[in-house]
Amino acid sequence: MRLIHAPWYMKNITGLFSKEKGPNRGFTAQYAVFWIFFKDKKDMSDTRLINHELIHHEQVKELTPFLFLPIYLGNYVFNLFKYKFDADLAYRNILLEKEAYIHENNFTYRKNRKRYAWIKL
Ligand SMILES: [Zn+2]
Repeated sequence: MRLIHAPWYMKNITGLFSKEKGPNRGFTAQYAVFWIFFKDKKDMSDTRLINHELIHHEQVKELTPFLFLPIYLGNYVFNLFKYKFDADLAYRNILLEKEAYIHENNFTYRKNRKRYAWIKL
């Protein structure tokens, strides 16, 4: 896994989807199979954030990116309707995100996690 500082990409591309506008726009970090992209250099040593993204890596290892992406995006779109187009609530309730948020502070979780743990959330 390579950690990549990509401020332009994070601000201008993920910024299209983040609710924050202006100079702080864009996601803090984004998992992308072989890489984790970061907006700010200081976050590249944030172990909680890295653990969160590595939980997504475990999910991709069991699903492959070809299943992970449609499940992730499909669950997001479903949640948009469920939560009346509250984009943040829809995002936080994606099952794959819920697993990562619930366990991001548990640094032994990835070793002990059961496969497809996110399905039961
Ligand atoms: Zn996440």
